[in-house]
Amino acid sequence: MIELNDVTKRYPGGYEAVSHVSLQINKGEMVFLTGHSGAGKSTLLKLIAAIERPTAGSVVVFGQNLGRMRRSALPYFRRNVGLIFQDHKLLYDRSVFDNVLLPLHIQGVTGQDASKRVRAALDKVGLLKKERARPITLSGGEQQRLCIARAIVSRPQLVLADEPTANLDEAYAGEIMAMFQAFNQVGVTLVISTHDQDLIRRLGGRSLTLAEGKLV
Ligand code: ADP
Ligand code: ADP
Repeated sequence: MIELNDVTKRYPGGYEAVSHVSLQINKGEMVFLTGHSGAGKSTLLKLIAAIERPTAGSVVVFGQNLGRMRRSALPYFRRNVGLIFQDHKLLYDRSVFDNVLLPLHIQGVTGQDASKRVRAALDKVGLLKKERARPITLSGGEQQRLCIARAIVSRPQLVLADEPTANLDEAYAGEIMAMFQAFNQVGVTLVISTHDQDLIRRLGGRSLTLAEGKLV
């Protein structure tokens, strides 16, 4: 499902955030990315999400070489990918409900069916009572949970999560992880960056460690 061949990402300024990384992730796997802050975890996830393009090497996801994909094909690619990133990118002028509804609308799911799925996703992350609120009025942890609801509502084949439990208290972190595990059991592929060794031990799965941009 994901194949990186000798991938290097250098940001303007010359520093290699990801350096000569090759890896494969199969459909249905749950893989953890670990490593110190600055090791390149976010950058690696962004390369897989086609948010960043590699400086060298190839990133192939769903059989598509992302470096060669046209910009116009991006929205189609993203339909199958649930993104959970730290920078949220929530729509602050829309309600919590509408933020989660949007990916379904893009997929052409509307009406009762869409509303039901939005509420089910909000319920899973404990935000059903806040469906009418604006994201700006939510706490950091709540915004993160909203982001998770939005990422999963469209039932993507691939979920990419960057430190998804970083700002959550233990109870929610546990629930989110149980949710990820349930997804994984129905065949969803997940790549999750985390500092939480305890979590990795509990959930099992493969873990990849980055150090200064290199896979170790
Ligand atoms: P991690 O997620 O493991 O903390 P990152 O991928 O965020 O690591 O960062 C890897 C390195 O790339 C860091 O040195 C960081 O400062 C640098 N970096 C990340 N994003 C950018 C950017 N947009 N422009 C320049 N440097 C960046
Ligand atoms: P552009 O350069 O046109 O802003 P981007 O690649 O930054 O394109 O983003 C395209 C779309 O992908 C965004 O409108 C957003 O919906 C989604 N997206 C990009 N980055 C993120 C992210 N970090 N988290 C969630 N969604 C994102």
